[in-house]
Amino acid sequence: MLLGDDGEQRPTIFAEMSALAVSTGAINLGQGFPDEDGPAEVLEAARQAISDGVNQYPPGLGMPVLRNAIAAHQERFYGLGVDPDREVLVTAGATEALAATILALTEEGDELVTLEPFYDSYAAIAGLASVRHVTVPLRGSDFQPDHDELRAAVTDRTRIILINDPHNPTGSILSRQTLELIVELAHEHDAIIVTDEVYEHLVFGERHIPIASLPGARERTVSISSGGKTFSTTGWKIGWITAPAELIQAILAVKQFLTFVNGAPFQPAIAVGLGLPDSFFADAAATLEAKCGLLSAGLVAAGFTVSRPRGGYFVIADAAPLGFTDADEACRRLPELAGVVGIPVTAFVRPERRDEYGSLIRFAFCKKTEVLERASAQLADLHR
Ligand SMILES: *Cc1c(COP(=O)(O)O)cnc(C)c1O
Repeated sequence: MLLGDDGEQRPTIFAEMSALAVSTGAINLGQGFPDEDGPAEVLEAARQAISDGVNQYPPGLGMPVLRNAIAAHQERFYGLGVDPDREVLVTAGATEALAATILALTEEGDELVTLEPFYDSYAAIAGLASVRHVTVPLRGSDFQPDHDELRAAVTDRTRIILINDPHNPTGSILSRQTLELIVELAHEHDAIIVTDEVYEHLVFGERHIPIASLPGARERTVSISSGGKTFSTTGWKIGWITAPAELIQAILAVKQFLTFVNGAPFQPAIAVGLGLPDSFFADAAATLEAKCGLLSAGLVAAGFTVSRPRGGYFVIADAAPLGFTDADEACRRLPELAGVVGIPVTAFVRPERRDEYGSLIRFAFCKKTEVLERASAQLADLHR
């Protein structure tokens, strides 16, 4: 529950839509979690760890086996050499990594620049850290930031430029030119770059470029990822940070009083996941891309205008062609009209910018093929 402007407790739109899915029996494409288990080896490794007695507090930085696997992963996929003992920190999901990073590296009154729409925890953490949240809107059907708007948003007051690439909710990927501009602006204004890359492996037919791999970026970049999305283990909450040692130390100083540590038996299991062959990662992306195509086709048949996500779990559909100017209203009606639940994109933007994204709905396609087929068929019926 969140407190509204009027001081009333009210459920978030996420809770409201999930409740609506339950009460109407509609297919819930609101929340972004998979409805199928990830790789069997990873699940088995967690069971084995519990049997082997890996059930007490792990080390503060995370278990060596996982830190080594994270470092090896950065080298294997991106050619980034990372010291597993000084430049890696295991966290309670990407969520804790974000919170600890922002709390550790900002002071009251600093500015945090993010893209908009943004993952909902960014604004909440900005509030907790008492920093000013400045946003750069993503524009056009490919949801890219305008370079002049980006330049205008980053100033000497900016402490952190936080990007999310691939992006939730839009599925967009930042171009190399935009990444280069962000590095340039970070240098010019002495800001730190924080990058949320939880969808790094769920990219459709192209290669993820971590901003830390660009010239001049490493020494001022905090890279955040998580096993949740890649291995369909969102409930395990094993995330991690790679960053220069001094930044890791500062973040650890906060992190130790948030959760201290978490998920001992899941840490070696995620290490197994990170070491899976390339084919696992390629198949995970290809499977998800096919699911995206399936749901997108249903949304198009229903009459929505649909953007083409380049990665992640979500597709954005514009309800305006169906006569809805207000996506909140469309989302409240969709369960009864098509038996499907989505989330209005306004849940990821600030009140000032509601109108710009007012008719857009986010649908999750990280669901079983038969569920997406059913959703697609129901949506297609909407148009008849
Ligand atoms: C799911 C998600 C997270 C949270 O990751 P956890 O590891 O579950 O904490 C963070 N950022 C984005 C953009 C996400 O979609």
